Amino acid sequence: MSELRARVIGAGLAGSEAAWQLANRGVAVDLYEMRGVKPTAVHHTADFAELVCSNSLGSNHLTGASGLLKEEMRRLGSVVIAAADGHAVPAGGALAVDREGFARAITERVSAHPLITVHRAEVLDLASDEPTIVATGPLTSEAMSQYLQGMAGREYLFFFDAAAPILTLESLDLTKVFRAGRKGLARKHEAKVEGEGDYLNCPFTKEEYVAFWEALTTGENATLHHKEDQVFFESCLPIEVIARRGIDTMRYGPMKPVGLDDPRTGRWPYAVVQLRQDNAVATLYNMVGFQTQLKWGDQTRIFRMIPGMEQAEFVRLGVMHRNTYLNSPHLLHPTLQWKGRPRLFAAGQMIGVEGYSDSAAMGALAGLNLARLLHGQDPLEFPRDTMLGALSHYIAEASEKHFQPMNANWGLLPPLEQENRDKKARREQMAARALASFDRFLESTSSKVANPIS
Ligand SMILES: Cc1cc2nc3c(=O)[nH]c(=O)nc-3n(C[C@H](O)[C@H](O)[C@H](O)COP(=O)(O)OP(=O)(O)OC[C@H]3O[C@@H](n4cnc5c(N)ncnc54)[C@H](O)[C@@H]3O)c2cc1C
Repeated sequence: MSELRARVIGAGLAGSEAAWQLANRGVAVDLYEMRGVKPTAVHHTADFAELVCSNSLGSNHLTGASGLLKEEMRRLGSVVIAAADGHAVPAGGALAVDREGFARAITERVSAHPLITVHRAEVLDLASDEPTIVATGPLTSEAMSQYLQGMAGREYLFFFDAAAPILTLESLDLTKVFRAGRKGLARKHEAKVEGEGDYLNCPFTKEEYVAFWEALTTGENATLHHKEDQVFFESCLPIEVIARRGIDTMRYGPMKPVGLDDPRTGRWPYAVVQLRQDNAVATLYNMVGFQTQLKWGDQTRIFRMIPGMEQAEFVRLGVMHRNTYLNSPHLLHPTLQWKGRPRLFAAGQMIGVEGYSDSAAMGALAGLNLARLLHGQDPLEFPRDTMLGALSHYIAEASEKHFQPMNANWGLLPPLEQENRDKKARREQMAARALASFDRFLESTSSKVANPIS
């Protein structure tokens, strides 16, 4: 039996992967999962890595950001991706799975690992100093949520994800969008977008505004999904709810044009949608005040009515649902270690990534890094030009004040040295760069699994 020992809490996508990575690096794991003795509101079985909704793990192509992440995970010996590959069902370019076979395979492989001991129990706190990965997911149990709130600070654990859409700069029509900020915060930026200031502004004429307002408020667009979500914080209203309060309400709220001189007209537009920089390299922007419950198809259709956003490429759309997640930029290092508690790691959706693959990827990183720590090695920060590195750096380094969950996307990666206007070719180049960088990094840090159990 190994002398090195760690605890993983939660056997979802992230926890199962974390336990596997630890055990394959010679660490004995106590894996705690409460399902079996205590259910969650959405899981139906006691199997590990149950997919609670869609059976798709997203793109499986290297020209898809999630596909690139999956390929990186394969190179780490991921149990989740191996099970997905083994139980794939036809789904075009996506990796969709037979959900029962997938979850059963992971449960069996993880449970059968000689270094993993499964405990069916709810863990109530993180008081113990034993090496731990907490991966209790978007539906973290009440007791653990309360403990995390006490440990992190009430304001650093979110229970509700009210997220506005995020889009790529390269998909904006920069002949229409201008840069400006209110309150005299103007700052010189690179000359890519006309104007000065911290925000990009999409200016509306009166006719454009009225058409946009009608689209937001009429027809089937503004369908609310969940009854319990219909009670909102007044400061965080969905844009369609604001719109329904009256035709001008948005112009006095998130679409206020006051103080925003359009350099092309020298005047304030009738209304604006403001876009705020979302990542350090300024390739992604979020729509300020546009948290929404519109269905995703409707979001894409209606938001592309915004002047300058006709061809917008959304890397994530707006959501409003129950989701327990940490303010990771405040709490975690890019290694996924808790600041001030180096033997405690967090992983999965609870650190502010989104989706099955991304959650499992963070589990892999936490498992790998805790194993390294226990072997007396430094935990790793993967290079920023890999998808795993880009995502973990985003989680730890995004704006604390505006932190919202994020999934793998091309906008997180640094641009290519030589710009390539052909999107597919550009992504192929970025994927090739990422995988070469990933392999070099693994080689240089000798982080490959020495004797993986297959
Ligand atoms: C309603 C809903 C629908 C979703 N739909 C999709 C979708 O269609 N596609 C997609 O990609 N993602 C979807 N997600 C997100 C998806 O659930 C996550 O991305 C993924 O499951 C996160 O993996 P995880 O390991 O972080 O959490 P989970 O997979 O939820 O695993 C966490 C585990 O921790 C256990 N646990 C919780 N508290 C404790 C405790 N105190 N002690 C011991 N065990 C504990 C839970 O039982 C659970 O098994 C959805 C989420 C929700 C809530």
